[in-house]
Amino acid sequence: MSKQIILEDKILESLPGVGNATRSKLNSLGIFRITDLLLFLPHQLIDKSIVSEMDSIQSGDNCLFIGVIEKIVITRGFKKNLILTINIKNKRIRVRFMHKIIIYKYLKVKDRVRFSGTIYIKGSVVEMIHPEIEVVIDERALEKVIPLYNTKRILGQKKIRKLIKFVLDYVIKKKSDDIFDNKFLKFINAPNYIEALQACHTPVDDNYDHAITKFEYSRRRFVLEELISRNIRFEKIKAESSKNVSYSFELSRSRISEFIQSLSFKLTNSQSLAVDEIIEKFGGEFASTRLIQGDVGCGKTIVSAIAAFLSFDSGLQTAFLAPTEILVDQHVSYLKKIFSNYDINIVTLKNNLKKIEKDRVIDNLKNGKIDIVVGTHSLINANIQFHKLGLCVIDEQHKFGINQRLSFSGSRGKSNIAPHVIYLSATPIPRSLSLVLYQGLDYTRITEKPKNRQNIITELIHSQNRRNIFSKIKNLVSKKEKIFWVCPSISSENSTELESVYKTSEILNKEFKDFNIGILHGQLDEQESDSIINNLRDGSLDILVCTTVIEVGIDIPDATCIVIEDANRFGLSQLHQLRGRVGRSDKESYCYLLHKDEITEQSKARLSAIRENQDGFKVAERDLAIRGSGDYLGSRQSGYLNNYKLATMDDFINNLDLIQEISPMIKKLPDDTKEKLLRRWDESISDKLVL
Ligand code: ADP
Ligand code: MG
Repeated sequence: MSKQIILEDKILESLPGVGNATRSKLNSLGIFRITDLLLFLPHQLIDKSIVSEMDSIQSGDNCLFIGVIEKIVITRGFKKNLILTINIKNKRIRVRFMHKIIIYKYLKVKDRVRFSGTIYIKGSVVEMIHPEIEVVIDERALEKVIPLYNTKRILGQKKIRKLIKFVLDYVIKKKSDDIFDNKFLKFINAPNYIEALQACHTPVDDNYDHAITKFEYSRRRFVLEELISRNIRFEKIKAESSKNVSYSFELSRSRISEFIQSLSFKLTNSQSLAVDEIIEKFGGEFASTRLIQGDVGCGKTIVSAIAAFLSFDSGLQTAFLAPTEILVDQHVSYLKKIFSNYDINIVTLKNNLKKIEKDRVIDNLKNGKIDIVVGTHSLINANIQFHKLGLCVIDEQHKFGINQRLSFSGSRGKSNIAPHVIYLSATPIPRSLSLVLYQGLDYTRITEKPKNRQNIITELIHSQNRRNIFSKIKNLVSKKEKIFWVCPSISSENSTELESVYKTSEILNKEFKDFNIGILHGQLDEQESDSIINNLRDGSLDILVCTTVIEVGIDIPDATCIVIEDANRFGLSQLHQLRGRVGRSDKESYCYLLHKDEITEQSKARLSAIRENQDGFKVAERDLAIRGSGDYLGSRQSGYLNNYKLATMDDFINNLDLIQEISPMIKKLPDDTKEKLLRRWDESISDKLVL
């Protein structure tokens, strides 16, 4: 660095080479500050110390080669492919790039390249798709251990490494103090800040095993930082929220039971207990914050709806927050149905409302004409004021960032009174974890399913035998039952290996000529998606071929069968969530997990875990056991803790005891350390979102 550069944390553009475009790419990776770049740890270190032998490779192997580019072809058509022919000791490998091929335009014929990835052998063709590739200038100078960042192909590895390296050099030059003192570091057995950053981002060791050991040791330091910062944060929330008073609730036992009696089913014991706990807290003076956790389909919505009834019955308003527009609509129609005997004004607030309608909703929330508002993120907007907000329910809470979730805990509107907040979550984490994770919150666990439920019959099926399930499907559809057919990709252009929504729907249309088959995926607009889901729920649609957009929350009691193509491509918690879309009534339900030949033993074990366990917590346990610890990629995919920057479920389990043990020490950390930790790990403090 010749010139003194001053980096401004919130301004990524203060980094050389970052303009508008790169900034927005970084943003979509969750990197909003320069600090976030440093904390964007590689999800893997790749071993490039051993070059593979062409003679001994098998389809599906992970390989590393060094060779010379002989030919470069760009295919014609809408989605261009870039195809390289690479000569390795006179044998040829085809390398194919299908997306963002512009990133690779620097590659030239005669370039010597090192590349690595999964090899596919089909007949005489040996192919690698989207390998990691680099041009070799001096073979001796090649790095042997390379960090790989999960940039989702939004940004090239070279670019992200360069940016991180720049910031790292800056930090090293500044020699800033570690936020922890040596005694604390020693106690938690962690390296100092700069050493840890270096071992993660710029491993220098030629020995892969050494590098990995150092990486894991260093990564753990950051995991601990994140967990400790959460601990501090929740501690703070607890201290703040216990100061907030709530509106006073008039709780009439007789009116509550009258409402509960009016439901078409009897509450389970778990649900009744949850309701009792809620009533007790609502009777108090202070605003409560409660997490209700329970497996998919256990009936969390009705519990929160009863809480909304309490709010209405006390003349107060309720805000329901859901992560998708489809769920918002579903909640509105559900609430309208169960409250049909009451004069409750229920409205939706969605992004696609016309301005005039939106303004009307906003006015009516302020003047109190609306009792219940259901919305997505658009509800989190400082402009929205309530007349008397008694309760806020946040469904699928893990889909919201922590700062979004917290924006409701503070007071809204003209008074200094805060609403009660109820978070709903199906994330299958053990109770001990929840208590640490959400300490300070009231915690309710719904442990049983409604009595009318049967086990979902789950089977693994080789995709060659898919015809075997066709007659079952015909039979179900003839009884007016509904089918979900889930594919890992939208169209075959995106992936040649995986089943796609469009291809599958074509096949099914031929097979089931008399049935109505619809399509749903994330690229359709919201209104279209809504009407498709409604058509499946109440209309003529029989089969919905879709991506995982249906994963969360959708409740269609007549859906009794879900077929999942290339099921081994999904994480276990995701499969469990998907399966939870069926078996939501007393009807017998089915889940068919389709897979192809190349499935590994581990994948088979994972799918069997789904087949053998109906309970989400059990599935999560099996998942951990099969993957083992330290599989960062795997645990990321399983996505349990997706509002954490770094920590995964495994990290939690591995460090739970330590966090509990050091909890008193955390409380005693200097204020300055606490402040810095919060700032490092919680971007809301850097005013990223105006809340
Ligand atoms: P989740 O906990 O996954 O959000 P929902 O709240 O959507 O589950 O409930 C799933 C389905 O079960 C809904 O159709 C709901 O009406 C129904 N349900 C809820 N509680 C009961 C119960 N005690 N008995 C029978 N059905 C119930
Ligand atoms: Mg739900």
